[in-house]
Amino acid sequence: MFEVTFGTRQEMAGYCRGKNLDFEQDRPMPVEGEYLYTRYRLIKDGLVVGQAVIDPRSDYLVAEGAACPACGENRMDWLTWDSDGKTVTCGGCDTVYTPD
Ligand SMILES: [Zn+2]
Repeated sequence: MFEVTFGTRQEMAGYCRGKNLDFEQDRPMPVEGEYLYTRYRLIKDGLVVGQAVIDPRSDYLVAEGAACPACGENRMDWLTWDSDGKTVTCGGCDTVYTPD
């Protein structure tokens, strides 16, 4: 089991597409008043392999292995899923790569 944090559901969906994962919503988690974390189970071949947390509040770091291989950038905001859903473009150095 692993846990990854995303700023938006769209980011999570891109991540899951790239890894051939399905996801389903877990229980909502009220945090500090108006904010909600939203948890999702990540599923591969019918088995829960990890969980994702959608947390729109802070800087997010991508999972180990998903950082830019050229410059090591691992802030979610700087790494953009490309439209093919498989590759990521680093906003720091423009490297296009396929995360693990
Ligand atoms: Zn980079």
